[in-house]
Amino acid sequence: MLCVKNISFAYSTNEVLKDLSFEVDRGKTLAIIGESGSGKSTLLRLIYGEFDLEEGEVWWKKNQILGPAFNLVIGYDFMKFVTQEFDLMPYTSVEENIGKFLSRFYPEEKEKRTRELLKVVELEPFAKTKVKNLSGGQKQRVALARALAKEPEILLLDEPFSHIDNFKKQSLRRSIFSYLKENNISCVVATHDKNDVLGFAEDMMVLHEKKVIIKDTPERIYENPKLPLVASFFGEFSVIDNEIYYAHQLKIVETSHHKAIVKQPYFNGENWLIEAEYKSKPIFVEHHLKLPQNAEFYFDFFK
Ligand code: ADP
Ligand code: MG
Repeated sequence: MLCVKNISFAYSTNEVLKDLSFEVDRGKTLAIIGESGSGKSTLLRLIYGEFDLEEGEVWWKKNQILGPAFNLVIGYDFMKFVTQEFDLMPYTSVEENIGKFLSRFYPEEKEKRTRELLKVVELEPFAKTKVKNLSGGQKQRVALARALAKEPEILLLDEPFSHIDNFKKQSLRRSIFSYLKENNISCVVATHDKNDVLGFAEDMMVLHEKKVIIKDTPERIYENPKLPLVASFFGEFSVIDNEIYYAHQLKIVETSHHKAIVKQPYFNGENWLIEAEYKSKPIFVEHHLKLPQNAEFYFDFFK
């Protein structure tokens, strides 16, 4: 189990995290969300032991994770970290990058493991391609495969699918997270994409102003986001009488006590997102038809 106890951290005088505590069980995934600059990457680097902690402790099972003051080489075999920079060898092939840390004394094992991982990240056709000739998204997939190569017990992912296009994203996500589940690997993933969380993470944590402001299951946070900041992670929403409503929770009806006027319709694939004005404030309503600008409509709440 990963155990983070009362950690605080500052870059010189800039305090980034203050008194954070949480746990992640074996085989479970915790998603960390928060605005840019809220400290997600810093938190992952602290868990990895990249910096010395001023206060608090990080443990994986019976091992205390210690910073550079105590370790000549940063990192532990049981923990792998895929950063936003990837850190690959550009002039060698995809398969060599993936197999880099596997023992060359067991060539058959190494070959088999490399094949398996190429499949997980869907890069089989690129096995012999030099990394420098890959796209950003493909490089990100090589980095993921390489992190999994030596069977870590815990994986830290910093916005792991950010460079990967939508054609591949969904299937890759399913593939990676099923691999983690099958192999009982714990995961802490920093993300700004709700699709990385919903359906994959058992727990979700919101960082804001140096603190964990919410930690719960994604389902419960989605249903009761409490703050506009949290709701905005999941999609468009309106605040009406201090209540938060997602766009699909406001429905256009024949008649009601709530009349609004269309500002701008936006096509979103399945539906139209209607930006409207209600009591001089902006609201967002989802509707199956396009409504013209300045059209008036009635809506009601369906929560
Ligand atoms: P996030 O990943 O949520 O965007 P970061 O952890 O990267 O947030 O950054 C948190 C805060 O720490 C920001 O204010 C950022 O400017 C600062 N910061 C990040 N890395 C460094 C660094 N190496 N040195 C000094 N300040 C940093
Ligand atoms: Mg970051």
